[in-house]
Amino acid sequence: MSFESLGLAPALLRALAEQGYAEPTPIQAGAIPVVLEGGDLLAAAQTGTGKTAAFSLPLLHRLSTTTSTARARPRALVLTPTRELAAQVHENIRTYGKHLRVSSAVIFGGVGMGPQVQALRRGVDIVIATPGRLIDHMQQRTVDLSGVEVLVLDEADRMLDMGFLPALKRIIGVLPRQRQTLLFSATFAPEIKALAIQFMHAPSEVSV
Ligand code: AMP
Repeated sequence: MSFESLGLAPALLRALAEQGYAEPTPIQAGAIPVVLEGGDLLAAAQTGTGKTAAFSLPLLHRLSTTTSTARARPRALVLTPTRELAAQVHENIRTYGKHLRVSSAVIFGGVGMGPQVQALRRGVDIVIATPGRLIDHMQQRTVDLSGVEVLVLDEADRMLDMGFLPALKRIIGVLPRQRQTLLFSATFAPEIKALAIQFMHAPSEVSV
């Protein structure tokens, strides 16, 4: 199995070669074809398995090969439990997308709203956010999520453990119903299955 055979855009393959990635990890090999097909994905994968690239690569592929109906509105939303993880996902997306014209912004609490508001106002394709601060932006109407085509819930089990279920419901409630949803979790606990049943459409399951 190679990244080439997965059909990823040449600009992504170039970034992967520069990173020295020789071949997809098992979660990437399982997840990338499902995501490129446009289906919902329920993935069980721990940190360290390459899960970030498993959703970031097909997400970047989709955004770079299709045009938006949502001018200047975010087309993808990645939710993470912590600011550290949000920053790390943002960094990875920037690295993999460096040869593409896809823009991203990271939104988390504990820092000023101002620079985040400015980044959102300039217009970005991908928003990576922690739930609490994203809700602050929703309340202040500084983010418009009505154009989101792809939702990623990263480390969904940790988000539930941290009490973010009400925030997740509120955020998902303003997203278009017709979208692609990707959920990554360390385990398929019953609460995760319940989340999938409520917010996903016939997801494919991949676990490593
Ligand atoms: P993650 O599970 O997303 O936290 O990724 C764990 C680490 O694996 C990160 O440092 C990635 O840069 C690295 N990584 C992800 N995919 C690959 C790959 N296909 N080949 C080599 N390293 C990778």
